[in-house]
Parts: sequence; C-alpha cells; structure tokens
Amino acid sequence: IISVRDLHKSFGKNEVLKGIDLDVKRGEVITIIGPSGGGKSTLLRCLNRLEEPTSGTVSFEGIDLTDPSVDIDAVRCRIGMVFQNFNLFPHMSVLENVTFAPMHNLGVSKEDAEATARKLLDIVGLAEKADAMPRSLSGGQKQRVAIARALAMKPDVLLFDEATSALDPEMVKDVLDIMRRLAAEGDTMIVVTHEMGFAREVSDRVIFTEGGLIEAQGSPEELFSENPPSERLKEFLGKVL
Ligand code: ATP
Ligand code: MG
Repeated sequence: IISVRDLHKSFGKNEVLKGIDLDVKRGEVITIIGPSGGGKSTLLRCLNRLEEPTSGTVSFEGIDLTDPSVDIDAVRCRIGMVFQNFNLFPHMSVLENVTFAPMHNLGVSKEDAEATARKLLDIVGLAEKADAMPRSLSGGQKQRVAIARALAMKPDVLLFDEATSALDPEMVKDVLDIMRRLAAEGDTMIVVTHEMGFAREVSDRVIFTEGGLIEAQGSPEELFSENPPSERLKEFLGKVL
C-alpha cells in the first residue's frame, strides 16, 4: 500500500534521511524504533508529505506522492495521523473535532458524521465526553479523541508518532489498548514508538532506524532476540530495555 524508494531528506546541510527503502502491505503493523534524532518522525512525515522529500519516491496505492501534480489533500484523507501532542482543535467540542474532517473533506452529512463519531467515541471509551471541550480532558482522553478523529476518515493507513510519549504512565495503557485493538482488527499501521513491549507484542515487522538509515528490520522475535541482527540495535536495546 506504501512503497518508499531511496528516500533522502535534508534540512539545510543536515541530511536526516539517507536512503530509505520500505514497503508496507495492507494490514501490516509496522513499528519504527531507534534513537532520538535518527529521523523517525521525518520518515513518517514524508509518508503524507508533511515533509517534502529531497529525493527518492514515496508512493501510496501506486500514486507517486512526490509528483507535484498529485492532489495531496485527497491522499491525506486516506492516511490518518496521530501526533505526540494530540493537535485537537481547541475551540471545538470533542464531537466537532471528530466530525469536522468527514463533513468538510468527505462531504458526509452532519447526521451521519455525528452517528459515526458517537460510535467511535464509544469505542475509545469517551461516549460521555462528546460535548466536552478539549481543555477539560486529560492527556490520555485527548489522545483517544485524536484517534477517534483519525478513524472517522476511514483511512487506509494510520500513522502514529509517539502517540503515548506525552502521557502520564497510567494513561499510556488506555491508548496502547486502543492501538492494540486496531492492530488486531487488521488496520494498516505504522507506529513510531518508544514502547518496546508494545512493539514486541503487536508488530508484524519492527524497523530500527539510526542515522537516517534502516539499520535492521525483521519480526519482533528476530529483533528482540538474545542476539539482535545488528550491534547498534543491541546497544540501543541495552539502553532502553
Ligand atoms: P525523536 O525520537 O527525538 O522524536 P526522531 O527520530 O523522530 O527523534 P526527527 O524528528 O526525525 O528524529 O529529527 C531528525 C533530525 O532532523 C534532527 O537532527 C532534527 O533536528 C532534524 N529536523 C527535524 N525536523 C526539522 C525541521 N523542520 N527543520 C530542521 N531540522 C529538522
Ligand atoms: Mg520524533
């Protein structure tokens, strides 16, 4: 569903991605792990052109996103993203946050958008918060709204960039539980995470990035084994586990 070829991205002289190749199949759950500054967020952001690649190609369902004539907004409707800092619309209620994009970008009627939103809020355990404003919610609740909002677009792929790292420990589990459930239901997900337990448990494939390259990848069994396939990965896991 996504295919990345020889992706490079520089910010000025700083070459952050140095040639990434990646293929993601429909239904796959991929986690991306690696040290801070290694380019994980940049890679994720190149997948929906929140960052403009310097060279290389990113294609989504055969559409080359690096082609300037592509309708990137239409593509973004099909690729949901959940950020570390939630990015909810602060002046809208929870329900409005979830109904906004389906109504405005997909032309769904208010009635249908609200019905879907209420179902999704129920799934993330926030049915009773539909009329609340984001500022009255805890971090974990905000992130669950952000997930419901992403799901409301019925995206083909969900991208998560450290969706739990801004949360207090007791709220991390609620959010991971929802992500686990989505993974089990067969959603296509690319998840940048520091939660090694989660990566180990839900991933079809784990990707370890360092210094702008994919340094190692494989099944969780392979990567989290006694003898990881890369010395650098072994060092990294030694620090974070
Ligand atoms: P973390 O685990 O801390 O989130 P990361 O692996 O996600 O790290 P990136 O955020 O992709 O790393 O950053 C990789 C490098 O790119 C860093 O050196 C960062 O300073 C640089 N960088 C990222 N975004 C920009 C930007 N918009 N302008 C300039 N430099 C940037
Ligand atoms: Mg990051």
